[in-house]
Amino acid sequence: MNELTPRQVLDHLVGFPTVSRRSNLDLIDWLESYLASHGIEAHRHWNEDRSKAALFAHVGPWEAGGVVLSGHSDVVPVDGQAWSSDPWVVTERDGRLYGRGTCDMKGYVAQAVWALVRAKHQGVTRPLQLALSYDEELGCTGAPPMIAAMQAVLPQASAAVIGEPSRMKLIHGHKGGTGYHVHVKGFEVHSSLLPYGVSAIMEGARLIGWVNAKNTEIQARPITDIAATFYPPFTTLHVGMIQGGTAHNITAADCKFAVEMRVVPGEDAEALAAEFEAEAARLDAALKAVRSEAGVTLERFFGVPGLRPEVDGAAEHLARQLTGDNSTGVVSYGTEAGQFQEAGYSAVVCGPGDIAQAHQVDEYLELSEWNAGLRFMENLLESLR
Ligand SMILES: [Zn+2]
Repeated sequence: MNELTPRQVLDHLVGFPTVSRRSNLDLIDWLESYLASHGIEAHRHWNEDRSKAALFAHVGPWEAGGVVLSGHSDVVPVDGQAWSSDPWVVTERDGRLYGRGTCDMKGYVAQAVWALVRAKHQGVTRPLQLALSYDEELGCTGAPPMIAAMQAVLPQASAAVIGEPSRMKLIHGHKGGTGYHVHVKGFEVHSSLLPYGVSAIMEGARLIGWVNAKNTEIQARPITDIAATFYPPFTTLHVGMIQGGTAHNITAADCKFAVEMRVVPGEDAEALAAEFEAEAARLDAALKAVRSEAGVTLERFFGVPGLRPEVDGAAEHLARQLTGDNSTGVVSYGTEAGQFQEAGYSAVVCGPGDIAQAHQVDEYLELSEWNAGLRFMENLLESLR
């Protein structure tokens, strides 16, 4: 295949409707053969049922210490959104590139693919790698196995740039998080017989009470230096969505709710999760003592490590040099950067576009952001020569 321009790569990528619930293999097949046509061998890491794959590749000397450009292949759905143009076709109007994923984050991925092919043809003295995950939008579940597979096959890069939309600002920290689906199972009796049944709602409320008390406890603690950079400057726990009960005079058989924790990096997110699990186990035992059918079950549906600001980090140093941005910032959304860092890479978030446009109807990437992203890649290629 001819060498495509970044914009042509973007047209291809957006044309694959890689919504997280669907397979991404059409995109991966295309990208793998495009890279192969330029002499770049890519490697796949499959998910369990082989309906999706991550792709990673290496260009340059076969040695450690390179740069990895990382993004995700999946996008959020367009169901129920009234788009002004086909979401799966990049449409340029009013200085913007419209299309699902142009901002989050196929714009960056297109530029990274272009840079990798350019690096292959121009030659580089320091390795450049590409890593493309799946299931990011489902709670960053695809990256950890991809990173492990990559570390087994490729020499380890030293700096990872995760191109989530940051308006090309250098983001060196974000909170980590975890979430639970909670199911409290009660036992139905007429409410006049309350002590002989189990109200899943009233018992679930005890667990929600624990969450509230934990927020109060956390907010009473002194604010650490890292925490001070976040808004709000502390870890938060939240209960979203709740359902349960059938009538005012029946003890509820079921109560379901979701608990989410957003943890300041450097704090022990696993310890907090363990405390919550222990509390749920205590309640479970108490309910079973009343009715053996009752109890509490937890399903942990995501867990993402925070991104800890590094002291003199290689990725931060690189991104600073390429963007000329001397500021640093933190964001409140989770990314795969924390997962790269946990696996031993120096990592930052830096990519074109504004997170405000991600996931929206008529998602777009401003051309000025697109151009800033391209300058980043051109400067990167120059620095790798
Ligand atoms: Zn994203």
